[in-house]
Amino acid sequence: MKDITRRGFLKAVLGALGLTGAKAVLPAMGAAGPANSSQADDTRTDMASTAEFFESRQHLIDLYRSRPRSMPMQAATADEFNAYAKAARAKFGELIGLDRMTPTAANPRRTGAVDRGDHVREHWLIDTEPDVAMPFYILRPKKVKGRAAAVICCHGHGPGKDAVAGLPDRPGAGNVAEGAFGVQFAKAGLLAFCPDARGFGERREADARKDPTQSSCTFLQMVGLPLGISVIGMHAFDLVRLIDHMQARDDVRGDRIGCVGFSGGGWQSLALGAVDDRPACVVVSSYIHPVAAPLLFRKHNCACNMVPHLWEFFDLGDLAALIAPRPLLIQTGDSDSLSGPNGVADVQPQVDIARRAYQLLGCQDRIAFDVFHGGHRWDAAKALPWVGRWLTA
Ligand SMILES: [Zn+2]
Repeated sequence: MKDITRRGFLKAVLGALGLTGAKAVLPAMGAAGPANSSQADDTRTDMASTAEFFESRQHLIDLYRSRPRSMPMQAATADEFNAYAKAARAKFGELIGLDRMTPTAANPRRTGAVDRGDHVREHWLIDTEPDVAMPFYILRPKKVKGRAAAVICCHGHGPGKDAVAGLPDRPGAGNVAEGAFGVQFAKAGLLAFCPDARGFGERREADARKDPTQSSCTFLQMVGLPLGISVIGMHAFDLVRLIDHMQARDDVRGDRIGCVGFSGGGWQSLALGAVDDRPACVVVSSYIHPVAAPLLFRKHNCACNMVPHLWEFFDLGDLAALIAPRPLLIQTGDSDSLSGPNGVADVQPQVDIARRAYQLLGCQDRIAFDVFHGGHRWDAAKALPWVGRWLTA
């Protein structure tokens, strides 16, 4: 028997009934939109290619659009913003599961050191929760003596801290997109703390050890979510504990600790800055986008980006606003496909939300938006002087 598609069958039936304009009828019968839908409506265009299946995604999109977020940053005065920030910080911490974490003594131990010419790469471990150890490098510039400003360098997907610390130790090796930015900050005279986030590098679970670029973030998300703990909650909690440790050290200036993150590391620096007021400056590179972009526009974002119920309360610009009045640099490439279907135009409204908080507090000079030429990659040109300005001036 000749195969016939569902759409073809419906067309044949409508034709036999003498009906025309089948394309106008099909969507009302539950099929997806026609192929000539507006190209501007990405969601409809995508679904046309799967017209033979009975998808649920459109229902979820409609559900999302029917429920505007309930905690947008809409303060009109500094006092209103401060009250908002207090409530929003608490809600975000609750959503990512911070109250379900179990702090434990850090028990710091140095476990190795490698001379890298202008800096020494030290390997350290601290405990963050019972039976949870966080390895990190300290890239210590040889020219730095005594207490010094420090910057936490958060990696994205890939091999973890090695990508920001310049490993493997061969010219041109390593993760090109991340550009070994930890080394860049060390060369600029800062102590660069480069941790592995849970599920990456030395913290991979048994599911992801064939290749150093594999990660266990999706696995940990599946294990954590039933417990009410998302991966970004684990990451943010570990960074809070890292700052606790840094402030207890005798080589770090506790009031001069910055946090820089690229891509998924940008999610980490954003989350840390939102829940902890100790980072003295924050850089969120190549991460700010409409929080619903992965749903609405079918861009691939790893499951570790997700937080249950987050969209019911916040967009990413609301979270960035919580960093005010501390210096915040937001970066994005002008052709970064992860920003959203409209590129920089999708990032700008999020930046505007955050900028409004800085305006209310009278410190507009403490927020900057750097749009650089390129795709999803680290760009040091504005980030290095920005961090230097606030931590070492
Ligand atoms: Zn992931």
